[in-house]
Amino acid sequence: MANEKEQKEHQVRCQSCGQRIFPGYFGTEQDGSEAKEWCKMCYLNGAFTDPDMTLEKMIAASIRFMTHNLKFSDEQAEVLTHSVIPQLKRWRGGHGNGK
Ligand SMILES: [Zn+2]
Repeated sequence: MANEKEQKEHQVRCQSCGQRIFPGYFGTEQDGSEAKEWCKMCYLNGAFTDPDMTLEKMIAASIRFMTHNLKFSDEQAEVLTHSVIPQLKRWRGGHGNGK
């Protein structure tokens, strides 16, 4: 009976930058269809927009975004990004581009 509660947030996270993807912000595959796991900042036409991005750079950019735009403290942002971003599909293999 408690099962449905587990579904709480029906949110999609970009598997590259970890940001939530809202409708209209999905990336695109080569055939123009929606890329369900990537946002349009990271992934367009079947390829990463910044193939040179590294895990370190992504974490640094994310910390900057969170402290500037979302008003996280440096510490909070650092803890969060280090716990979330390395788990994302793009980075789990240890390096980028491992779609
Ligand atoms: Zn993204």
